[in-house]
Amino acid sequence: MKDIYRIAIDGPSGAGKSTIAKAVAKALNIDYIDTGAMYRAVGYKMDKKGIPFEECEALDAMLESTDIDFVGGDVILDGEVVNALIRTPEVSMLASQCSQLAPVRTKLVEIQRGMGQRKSVIMDGRDIGTNVLKDAEYKIFLTASAEERANRRFKELQEKGENQTYEEVLEDIKQRDHNDMTRELNPLRKADDAIEVDTTGMGIDEVVAAVLDIVNK
Ligand code: C5P
Repeated sequence: MKDIYRIAIDGPSGAGKSTIAKAVAKALNIDYIDTGAMYRAVGYKMDKKGIPFEECEALDAMLESTDIDFVGGDVILDGEVVNALIRTPEVSMLASQCSQLAPVRTKLVEIQRGMGQRKSVIMDGRDIGTNVLKDAEYKIFLTASAEERANRRFKELQEKGENQTYEEVLEDIKQRDHNDMTRELNPLRKADDAIEVDTTGMGIDEVVAAVLDIVNK
């Protein structure tokens, strides 16, 4: 294995990317970069500042003064820890919508490439293997059926006391899949050189072992 290597994990919403990436990062003692959290932070900030999606100038100005970082597992937006604030169903949808805007993608991809340059990282998202880290040493495409992904997300939301129904969660997942796969800019797709892991019916430990196996080979 090289001294510095990058692992790209892509896949649809709720496939378990962040859970798996976190565990793999720990096992390999490398940094984990959650690019979805960055789109969430931008969606959250646009909403908080009341910036409409079609207001290019206001958006450019906002992005110019936006700072997103990860410190010890926390997501920091302009100096504030926003972990819980960006995990609501509303922010999920805002993230999915703002991720279609070219200025947002340009800014975040630039930050992400910088983060993946200096040290070994595992980065998860939708366009890591196809765009952000095209030359990543390892590429994994994590999937699961829409129903299984909705079921996992529904359980998570219930534990947090959110009161979305299973049908609403499934509808959200399908809507976000559609947004991700049909957007013009860097749509979600498996990179030609990525290895697909279908996690339907698999437990977390099993998936982590499968990913470590790919990396250790
Ligand atoms: O992964 P997560 O669900 O937190 O991502 C939030 C949203 O950000 C996704 O629905 C997706 O539309 C967008 N996203 C993206 N590109 C990435 C990561 C996330 O467009 N690399």
